[in-house]
Amino acid sequence: MGFLFSLLAGKGGGISAIVVAIAALIGYAKIVRPHEWVEKEATYAAVTGPMTISVKVGRRRTEEYKLYGVAVSPDDEALKREAEAYIRKLAAESGKLTISYQRKRPTTAIVTTWDGNTDLGHALIRYGYARAVGKTLTYRVAEAFARREGRGMWRQKIQGFVVPEWDDCPVVHQSNRGVGVVLTDIDSRMPDRHIYRDNDRVTWGHETSHGIASRLRMAQDGFRAGNGTTVKTTAGLDVFKSTGRENAFYVLLGRSIRLTEPDVTLADVARAVPRSLRGRIYNLYLVQQQRDWNDTPLYVFDEWVAYTNGADVRYDEGIAGRDEAVDHMVEMMAYGLTLATMTDDPKLEDFARWQALRAVQLFGIAEDYDSDRGAATIHAMRTAADAERWRAEVREALGDEWTQMTLGF
Ligand SMILES: [Zn+2]
Repeated sequence: MGFLFSLLAGKGGGISAIVVAIAALIGYAKIVRPHEWVEKEATYAAVTGPMTISVKVGRRRTEEYKLYGVAVSPDDEALKREAEAYIRKLAAESGKLTISYQRKRPTTAIVTTWDGNTDLGHALIRYGYARAVGKTLTYRVAEAFARREGRGMWRQKIQGFVVPEWDDCPVVHQSNRGVGVVLTDIDSRMPDRHIYRDNDRVTWGHETSHGIASRLRMAQDGFRAGNGTTVKTTAGLDVFKSTGRENAFYVLLGRSIRLTEPDVTLADVARAVPRSLRGRIYNLYLVQQQRDWNDTPLYVFDEWVAYTNGADVRYDEGIAGRDEAVDHMVEMMAYGLTLATMTDDPKLEDFARWQALRAVQLFGIAEDYDSDRGAATIHAMRTAADAERWRAEVREALGDEWTQMTLGF
């Protein structure tokens, strides 16, 4: 402030400059000072509510802070308790915390873990334990993410929502490449020096998803000689193809799923897709790829998940264009649903429901997306005459109510 005063006074000189300076200072004091952020280090003491935390500052002082920018749902006691437990875990694991608050509101703070990696309020929103209030963009994005995945408080709002049986897919390395939360999540499931990174972030997310699936297959089968072969992705990168009947896919937030290969071929799936649903990538993935994957029809899910993760990266990074990432996700959904009609495996069906909902939601929120292909594919799924039997089979496999709610037929 002193600096601002002398600068203004010195430059203009005379009374008018001083008046200007004083006016500026009043404005400065009013507008800037109360918003100033203060940061302090503290030690975790206790979680005292679903969004309040008490900490020790220095040796003796205990202070309580309400988390900034979050609100829990007032009438959901179970969810509040879950939120509390989740925050307790994060804070206790970290031990030391960083508290940041605005001078004008010293009891409401952004609380981050010691390493700065986790913002507790953001984590609450991200996992659907709390809503974002206020204008913090990262919080709003986190809420959109939680909503479309139907997590926590958003779960009940989607009828027929099923949560598949997930496996844990832990972080393998702390990815810190200056990319968004979705791509960081994907990248961190692979060792640091993995081969699936790409200058194009959508491709990076897509190919790394194949890499993770490949790694999960290796882990299941011990990757001993004779348990599988190396196959190239359509981008020319090596992945492991198991001779076992287990496949696995990674769908963010540390969740993967293991599925058993249905007893059909990729050629069977290709034949079962009604002509009106065969799009631009039908020939590449369902016909040409029979060369490598004919006996492992879950290859369709591998691509569907990779395109969905890629579309998620596109959304999260705010990438304009790359419309085909969204188009192909929707097209692969038609093929994935076709596969779901060809088995009686409840775990596979649950995953197909969950994954279809994710794809539909991602399609719905896609920004800077000017293609009409996605909508055309969905329209064909709903109305094409030659897909009448296909629709009946999807309804039978995934349930009438779910199908109507999610796919509109
Ligand atoms: Zn692919």
